Amino acid sequence: LYNTVQDLKGNIRVYCRIRPSFNCSSKDVIEFIGEDGSLMVLDPLKSKKYGRKAFRFNRVFGPAAKQDDVFKDIQPLIRSVMDGYNVCVFAYGQTGSGKTHTMNGPSGGADKDFGINYLALNDLFQIQNVRKDIDYEINVQMVEIYNEQVRDLLVAESSITKLEIRSCTSDTGLSLPDATRHSVKSTADVLNLIKLGELNRAVSFTSMNNQSSRSHSILTVYVHGKDNSGSSIRSCLHLVDLAGSERIDKSEVTGDRLKEAQYINKSLSCLGDVIMALAQKNSHIPYRNSKLTLLLQDSLGGHAKTVMFAHVSPEEDSFSETLSTLKFAQNVSTV
Ligand code: ADP
Ligand code: MG
Repeated sequence: LYNTVQDLKGNIRVYCRIRPSFNCSSKDVIEFIGEDGSLMVLDPLKSKKYGRKAFRFNRVFGPAAKQDDVFKDIQPLIRSVMDGYNVCVFAYGQTGSGKTHTMNGPSGGADKDFGINYLALNDLFQIQNVRKDIDYEINVQMVEIYNEQVRDLLVAESSITKLEIRSCTSDTGLSLPDATRHSVKSTADVLNLIKLGELNRAVSFTSMNNQSSRSHSILTVYVHGKDNSGSSIRSCLHLVDLAGSERIDKSEVTGDRLKEAQYINKSLSCLGDVIMALAQKNSHIPYRNSKLTLLLQDSLGGHAKTVMFAHVSPEEDSFSETLSTLKFAQNVSTV
């Protein structure tokens, strides 16, 4: 079973990924990256004594890490989906820190250097082809959560509608019965769907970055496998590109932008609360506090596996956001 090795590493894993610097004249705030998942950041404005802070995660991927290096680490876990385990992969971080790069690939949609979405599906298709004893069916769905409303991203733009989350999950395990699901047989099928999904994703302008994703996008892969004996498994893999975690200065934005920011803050902190409660094995897990956690409820906790990639930008002007991302990630980490 693909899962066996994975159990040793625990059900919640937190990684940090640092993207390459875009500004060579900027001081780098990352002072040290350890093989053991440790990381040291240095406040560029403060003295060394006060401005240095250490963190520790399951692993830290530095600016030189390739997409394949990142994927290799979670590959066995992705494969456990074919054994019936539910898995969630989250990309967290401020806008511009590399979330979409990790999940989808480089901006501009270059057809190389693919991210986790593609690599994961490619891997699942390979297993599908190898495992002749099991008849697998793979479907994908892609939705976004924008201002606590769930929308289908895999429909023509004109018909994007609000979706209801079904809280008592049906026997098919679907919490979004009205979202379209597309049968996929190859990575080409998947790439086309992802392109449509990205086009439909709500983007808007903020002062921080020209184009900032203000919604969470969730690509879900449903796996249904049947063997000769008639027994079957159902599981899913959620690949989540979260909205930018930057704190918006309330004095700078008003109206819609302020509302967006408040919804994002709330749902990201709810996600943190849920993962933290799971890590601490609390009896009450506050799934119901946000659409995101409600939607992913079946895949967070229990036997499900969770991976959080905390993305940080290395430039000095991002220091306070970098620090807050690392603190969030440390809070949900069990290392
Ligand atoms: P986010 O989705 O968090 O807003 P992006 O993934 O769009 O950030 O990354 C911002 C920019 O940095 C993009 O042009 C992206 O291609 C580039 N980038 C991000 N991470 C890396 C990386 N690890 N290596 C090279 N370029 C990267
Ligand atoms: Mg993005």
